[in-house]
Amino acid sequence: MVAVDIRNDGQVVELLQEVLEDAESLDQVVSIRSFADVGLLTRDAGLVVRMENGAEFQITVQRSMRAIDAASCMECGRDLGSRLELVAHLVEDHEMEPEDAQEAVA
Ligand SMILES: [Zn+2]
Repeated sequence: MVAVDIRNDGQVVELLQEVLEDAESLDQVVSIRSFADVGLLTRDAGLVVRMENGAEFQITVQRSMRAIDAASCMECGRDLGSRLELVAHLVEDHEMEPEDAQEAVA
């Protein structure tokens, strides 16, 4: 099982893939692969499920709400888990001075 704090669409895809692979009634399912694994040209996250009879389904995962404690980076838009993580991100990835990063997030 996925033991991480699930926050983004890619993590939900991983979770779904694990749940589907663990399900017992999957005799008809030939494969369950992520869009990334099959090289699908899309920015969406999702799964391609192929059946024994040739039918194939695409399941797209879209986040409709962020985690309540999420903090988005004002520089690059990345979704960080908390204000503390955002400060660390600003310092490490945007070379901001720690004091300035604290101030920007406060
Ligand atoms: Zn950033």
